[in-house]
Amino acid sequence: MKIKETPADDNGCGWFHLSPPRIARVARQGHVRARWGVVGAGLTGLAVARQLALNFPDDEIVLLEAQEVGFGASGRNSGFAIDLPHDIGAPDYIGDPATAKMNLKLNLFAQNIITSLVAKHGFDCQIKLAGKYQAAIEEKGLRVLEAYKSGLDKLDQPYEIIESEELPSHLGTSFYRRALFTPGTMLIQPASLVKGLAESLPTNVSLFENCAVTAVDYDNPIVLTHANGTVAVDKLILSNNAFATQFGFLKGRLLPVFTYASITRPLSAEEQARLGGKPVWGVIPADPFGSTLRRTPDQRLLVRNSFSFNPNGKIDASLLARAEATQRRSFENRFPMLPGVKFDYTWGGAMCMTRNHSGHFGELGRNVYGALGCNGLGITRGTGAGTLLADWLAGKRHELIDFLLAGDGPNRNPPEPFLSLGVNANLRWGQHRAGLES
Ligand SMILES: Cc1cc2nc3c(=O)[nH]c(=O)nc-3n(C[C@H](O)[C@H](O)[C@H](O)COP(=O)(O)OP(=O)(O)OC[C@H]3O[C@@H](n4cnc5c(N)ncnc54)[C@H](O)[C@@H]3O)c2cc1C
Repeated sequence: MKIKETPADDNGCGWFHLSPPRIARVARQGHVRARWGVVGAGLTGLAVARQLALNFPDDEIVLLEAQEVGFGASGRNSGFAIDLPHDIGAPDYIGDPATAKMNLKLNLFAQNIITSLVAKHGFDCQIKLAGKYQAAIEEKGLRVLEAYKSGLDKLDQPYEIIESEELPSHLGTSFYRRALFTPGTMLIQPASLVKGLAESLPTNVSLFENCAVTAVDYDNPIVLTHANGTVAVDKLILSNNAFATQFGFLKGRLLPVFTYASITRPLSAEEQARLGGKPVWGVIPADPFGSTLRRTPDQRLLVRNSFSFNPNGKIDASLLARAEATQRRSFENRFPMLPGVKFDYTWGGAMCMTRNHSGHFGELGRNVYGALGCNGLGITRGTGAGTLLADWLAGKRHELIDFLLAGDGPNRNPPEPFLSLGVNANLRWGQHRAGLES
């Protein structure tokens, strides 16, 4: 089976360029035989490979990545490792309390993995337990905060409501009318995180970078073909986000929805003083179609907004230019006190969305498994699900494994061209309705 589309992300990702340089691992040429093959070295694939290596110390795990580690979505995101359930399909972001409690456990499990690995291997990914502000400006956003508050009460989770007059002392900007602060989110430099995870993989993981799988033969063993050879494996794990559909699975169920971000140059000391507020923070929008913001430890400001649906998993320069123009407007609305501050980088990246916001965990076919469909929450979800998939494959039992196995899985979508028409209309309408929050 030929893989028709392989990833080709843009070269503008600030996180990637600002993270410590490393030398990409070169694929072994010719024919390689291993027990395990993992496709995709994002957060999910890195977690799968690491845990398989620990569970099966005598086996070789080959982890194949089409680009460099950190160049894909796992190094392009906004860096919110969120503890709380974040069900954008539910009016209160929490949904069914029993499911929400398990999602909370899963996210805390993943946060714990990340902090332990960062501490153990000592790499710097600017990790900080800074919490997150969910901020509203429009009436609709204020209603979301009210609903979210009641959802958090149901879960007995702490929060603080911050009104407009106090917000400048937190965020500098006086743009927002209200924010709901929750303390448990960690903010991360995502490319530094995944590069650090890649550099600290156990020695029985062979990482092949710049090594797109271009064909797969589902025989026994399963044979993966890349530009310089083949890898034959007994068991294959797909952790390649929406590109899993190219491998013949979950066709029409995984939606590569792109979102975009820009990051400024570092603010001068005088600009920081003019902005005011706390030195590090993260804001997510009350309206899911609004803007995410960050003030990073190195005093840059990040704006993430804009969406596009790109079924082939690729974007072009015109989409980047449009997103940058939108982000410039969003920046100027929020930070009129920083008129001369330009963006150093603008980039896009794919989230693997599903219509019912449910991902896939477990078997896909004979000797093929996957952890896919992080729905924009891959830092915790991908890390947790990837680790647990490797534990499940080792026969371990855990309540979180049972929880993930019992999930609904991604819903089927209508066929093309109705799918693209529907998703694009939905994205346009959502962004329009977000109003000033975008
Ligand atoms: C701008 C932006 C902001 C976001 N913000 C957040 C956030 O703040 N918090 C959060 O939790 N999530 C966020 N996300 C979502 C998060 O980035 C994803 O959920 C996460 O990256 C999913 O991880 P993954 O490992 O499952 O997939 P990916 O990171 O997409 O990794 C899959 C890998 O598979 C590789 N691949 C695909 N096909 C092949 C092939 N044929 N051969 C070899 N390799 C292949 C790709 O190159 C890629 O590196 C954001 C996403 C974007 C784009």
